[in-house]
Formats: sequence, C-alpha cells, structure tokens
Amino acid sequence: MEIKVRIQLPYEVEWVIGKIRDAGYEAFAVGGCVRDTLLGRTPEDWDVTTSARPEAVKAIFERTVDTGLQHGTVTVLKNRKGYEVTTYRIDGEYHDGRHPDSVEFTPNLLEDLKRRDFTINAMAYSHETGIVDEFGGMEDLKAGIVRCVGRPEDRFTEDALRLLRALRFSAQLGFEIEESTYAAIKTIAPNLAKVSKERVQAELTKLLLSAHPERILLLKETGLSAQIVPGFDAVFAPALFSKLSQLPAEKSLRWAGFLLCQSTKQAETVLKGLKMDNETIGNVSRMIEGAKETLPLEKPAIRRAMSRYTPYQLEGALKLKELMGSPDAEEIRRLREEIIRDGDCVSLKDLAVKGRDLLEAGVERGPMVGEILNHLFDLVLLYPEKNDRE
Ligand code: ATP
Ligand code: MG
Repeated sequence: MEIKVRIQLPYEVEWVIGKIRDAGYEAFAVGGCVRDTLLGRTPEDWDVTTSARPEAVKAIFERTVDTGLQHGTVTVLKNRKGYEVTTYRIDGEYHDGRHPDSVEFTPNLLEDLKRRDFTINAMAYSHETGIVDEFGGMEDLKAGIVRCVGRPEDRFTEDALRLLRALRFSAQLGFEIEESTYAAIKTIAPNLAKVSKERVQAELTKLLLSAHPERILLLKETGLSAQIVPGFDAVFAPALFSKLSQLPAEKSLRWAGFLLCQSTKQAETVLKGLKMDNETIGNVSRMIEGAKETLPLEKPAIRRAMSRYTPYQLEGALKLKELMGSPDAEEIRRLREEIIRDGDCVSLKDLAVKGRDLLEAGVERGPMVGEILNHLFDLVLLYPEKNDRE
C-alpha cells in the first residue's frame, strides 16, 4: 500500500535519493528513520534502500565507503556525515540463527521490506511515492504494537537477535508486543544463546537507557533471561526495576541500578560475561559498592568517600541510595559542596607533604614512605586544616 503523505527528510537524504533517481534507479528512506519520523522522534541515522547495485551506487557518488559490499551496503558521505545506501536484497537461508548464508540482490522493493524484522521497521518513503507500507506498519505504529513481518517463529528462528530487538523497541517506544509475536519469543528464547554477547549487551544497554527500562522484566517473563550469561537470571528484582526510569539515562548508572541487588562481584561477572568495556564495569561496580556503604553524615567520612570514589561514581552511588529510599543523599551532597568550597584535601596528591619531603627528612626509601603518607592523609581527612608542611 502506498500512503500519500509528505514527511520531512534532511537535505542530505533528499540529495542522496535524488541523485540515485536521476541515474534511473529507485531509492527510498527506509526502516528506523521512517518509523521515528512518523512518531515525531529524531532518528539516530538515516538509511536508504535502492534498486541500484553497490557498483552503481559507487559510480553515482564521488565520496563513498565500502561498508559492507557483500551485504550491498555502501556509505555515501555528504556534509561530513555518512548515509548507508543498501541494495534491495533477499536474505538467504539462516543456518546458524544469526547470519543469512548468502544474500541475493533483487530489483523489487517489496522483497526487501519483507526481510525486515517488524512491521513498524518495514516501511519505505520517498517524496515521489509517499509511504510504502505493505505489512500494516502504519496501523501498528498508531496502535503502538511491535509485530513481526511474516510468521514470528520463522523470523525469530532466522535471527535470534530479533528476540531482544522486540523487547528493546517495546521499551524505547512504549509499545506492546503483539500476542503471537510474544508467544514466539517465548518459544524461540533458547536460540538467544547463539547470539554474540557484544550484540546482546548492546541491545540490553539500549533497553536500559530507554524511556521504559522497567521492561527489562520482560526478559524474565519470556525466558530470555536464562539465555544471556550464567548468573544473569538471578539478578531480577522487579520492585527495583519500576524505579529505574527515575535514574538519568546514563549507561553505568542504569546498569548499576539494574544490578543493585547483586554483590559487586556478581555484577562484575555478569558484565564481563557480556563483554562490557572495563570503564563501565569499574563504574558500575563502584556505584553499587558506594550505594551500599553506610556513610556517617559527617565531613571526615564524606572526605574519605570523596578520596575513594571518582566524583561521577560518588554521585551515581548517591542516586542509587535515593532509589533505595535512603534519606541521606541530600545531606551528603551538602557536605560534599562545603568540602569542595573549602578546598579540603581529599586526594593523596593534594597532600602538602610529598614522598620527597619525607626522604629529605631522613626517612629511608621503601614501603615506610607510603605508610607515613597514608597516615598523614588519614589525619588530614579528619583535620583538613592540618594540611600544611609544618
Ligand atoms: P535504531 O537505529 O534506533 O537502533 P533501527 O530500526 O534503525 O533502530 P537498525 O539496526 O539501525 O535499527 O536497522 C535499520 C533497519 O534494518 C531496521 O529498521 C530494520 O528494518 C532492519 N533490520 C535491522 N536489524 C534487523 C534484523 N536483525 N532483522 C531484520 N531486519 C533488521
Ligand atoms: Mg537505525
């Protein structure tokens, strides 16, 4: 079905589509960018689908990058941004539940739309044609429904990443998952074990950063949580999840909120299993630790905490304390502000006495130097006014 409406395309996308059409081929904006524009959301990126083969696309544009020629994708550069232009294609058989064995190019747009995962992601648009919507994407968009294109069992069996994408879109858009699609997720859930942990992590992160992070609970309901990494199934604490959306949408913070009921060790194991980057693992683990640490509401304890956590980690820990219903965060913030304002020493490197001074005063080079410095630092955390060389 073609729906004659006009949607706003960025100038560069109009330019890319126009150049391809001028060369005698079809071209449309497609997928997530059409979905998001229709919803009034700002698309992350704009993808173009075309009847032109990759070689033809490369011949039309001066500046292109071979992004995935075997899948038909060429990136066109315009105004310092990249636009992925992909040839209409039919995915061959999937034997591993992850990648098609082969892809075949086709001159038929509908074939290309058919291979896409959900009806809301299977619409194409150009100014000339309007919206091409063969699978009821518009209707599902209006009703707020995530529904597979074609038979759900088949589509999830082909590519198990779609199991998580369904939950992720539901969380990002606040959509319900259509009944037969949902039933198929439960049936095909064990296939998720075939998907690489990096891709699983990327989807879970998008879900946690979404407007409805509490929908992470759907992982449990569908049985997907048992297929993620060992121990993941044990982290579910529904009462807590309903509060996750109160946390700012930051990667470390939302993951820490999700894993808050775990020991830092368990949280680290889960994140390592998901191939999370070390910086995030460190921040999550420290935030959880800080959230559970009892901080007396007095400056020496807060100075010590400021010496042990980065400002980002400490603030994250306070946000998690608030999430757990602790009334202390506000007072801790106030004390922290005063400590910062007064310029109290909260780091060994701001200590007025250096290792060098100790050596000059006759202390022998060795572990003793560090021990003395630590002792002095402890004193200064208690009595900041003592931070001078005398
Ligand atoms: P976002 O960019 O917000 O993550 P998106 O829908 O644009 O969402 P992309 O991964 O950018 O998702 O993919 C672009 C389009 O390609 C999708 O809208 C969909 O039509 C298709 N697509 C992506 N991944 C799959 C998949 N695993 N199976 C089927 N179609 C897919
Ligand atoms: Mg996209």
